[in-house]
Amino acid sequence: MSRPLLYESHMHTPLCRHATGLPGEYAAHAQRRGLRGIIVTCHSPMPDGFSASVRMRPEQFDEYLSLIAAAADEWRGRVEVLAGLESDYFPGMERWLEKLHQRAPFHYILGSVHPQIKEYTSRHFHGDWPEFHRQYYRDLAAAAETGLFDSLAHPDIVKNQGAECWDVNALLPDICRALDRIAATGVAMELNTSGRLKTVPEMNPAPAIIREIHRRRIPMTIGADAHEPARVADHYEEALTLLRECGFATVSVFLRRQRREIPIQDALDSLRG
Ligand SMILES: [Zn+2]
Ligand SMILES: [Zn+2]
Repeated sequence: MSRPLLYESHMHTPLCRHATGLPGEYAAHAQRRGLRGIIVTCHSPMPDGFSASVRMRPEQFDEYLSLIAAAADEWRGRVEVLAGLESDYFPGMERWLEKLHQRAPFHYILGSVHPQIKEYTSRHFHGDWPEFHRQYYRDLAAAAETGLFDSLAHPDIVKNQGAECWDVNALLPDICRALDRIAATGVAMELNTSGRLKTVPEMNPAPAIIREIHRRRIPMTIGADAHEPARVADHYEEALTLLRECGFATVSVFLRRQRREIPIQDALDSLRG
């Protein structure tokens, strides 16, 4: 066991209405797991009632920042508690997000395409699941090209919709076209361990996609997408081992929106619990 190195870099707060536990409780689990810190990345507020049932309201944004600041004070010197955001990419929302991201000195901003929300399905689902899956990858590449995000969250989460039609090998040419666009932007991609709990029970993205990410030298971050404190760093050991099997030597972390690399063996050695 070595000194703490890793962060939980995808986690939520009760403000999004589908997560439990305050940031301080997540920090307590982070300490048990040997993490250096947590980066709170709750769902971004959005304008005009967009997907409003699963996120804080715009007027709760200051409360969000206060929750993080209070936990940072409580845990100072033990676990770093840092401010981040999981922002929804949806065409037309770029200006809103740009302003939102300037409202605090965020450490890390995840960009998400959430194909399960009704605003997305009503625009893009017309009875053809393979086409829906392809559309998701066009949007993911477009998200990277906005320059608004540090890393793209759970980048095959769309497989849980029309799961019976999900065929990663058939879709790979379309995925690779998206990855080429993403690689050109320098944006990272996330290995999200919460996929194990979803309809297609494997991490997001699948190993076949991770190998293509690695071939293009796109950096990868990891996150548990914890919506409860007990899931902090959930299956990080398995995630890091998977990254190594797919060719990665390091895992990426963003602090002050700057990427740094942690050798995977050091990361594995630092974990506890
Ligand atoms: Zn959520
Ligand atoms: Zn998400």
